[in-house]
Amino acid sequence: MLPPAPPGVVPYITQRSEERLLPYQLIRRPVWPGIAYPDETPYDRDSFGTLWLRARLLPKSRRGEPDLRRVHAYRQRRAMLDMLCQVCARPPADPDGPQLFLMRSTGGPIRDGERTTSPPVCVPCAAITVQQCHALRGDQFVAAWVRHTPAWGVAGTVHDPVTLEPIPGRSMEAVEYRAPDSFYVLAARTVVELQGVVAADLEREWAAMGADRLEAEFARVAASMQLVA
Ligand SMILES: [Zn+2]
Repeated sequence: MLPPAPPGVVPYITQRSEERLLPYQLIRRPVWPGIAYPDETPYDRDSFGTLWLRARLLPKSRRGEPDLRRVHAYRQRRAMLDMLCQVCARPPADPDGPQLFLMRSTGGPIRDGERTTSPPVCVPCAAITVQQCHALRGDQFVAAWVRHTPAWGVAGTVHDPVTLEPIPGRSMEAVEYRAPDSFYVLAARTVVELQGVVAADLEREWAAMGADRLEAEFARVAASMQLVA
């Protein structure tokens, strides 16, 4: 039996109402094939050279109300890059150790080689998530410890190489780094591949942590939310 989750927990990667996407114009990339911004800066591309959409970056006090259905592209990318907990943003205790991934069940366990845009969670935040997230409640979730999470590609909107317009029906499409489409995708998420997957027994993890420690961890997460709000 889990201690009750603290109310009002908003995951770190959640987009807020004032963090809208910025209007943009695309041009043909000089020298290389692909799309570019006319006023591009080094921050517009990830380390693989893929172009990212532009989301508004605001001070924490001006971000507005959380929209739990939406994910902020830059915070998702950062969480994947540094393996931060997608709820409380805490870095992993052991960056080289396996990380915990929690996903909506699609009828089987998380498989080795599976790809995802959902960053890891810490053990206490997994206990909060299964209590709060409607889609994951009850037995609707699967969890695994994952040893390696190499960046596979991005998910984003693929653009026509001739017109540079978004191709209808190809938004939030997973595109592998260095594939032909990767030069024409405007990325919105990092996609990682899950390697070295071992099914996690969350009930056992929570029991090992104990109710007192879980409650203390819940208080820590709730306190971190006050800082973000
Ligand atoms: Zn966490």
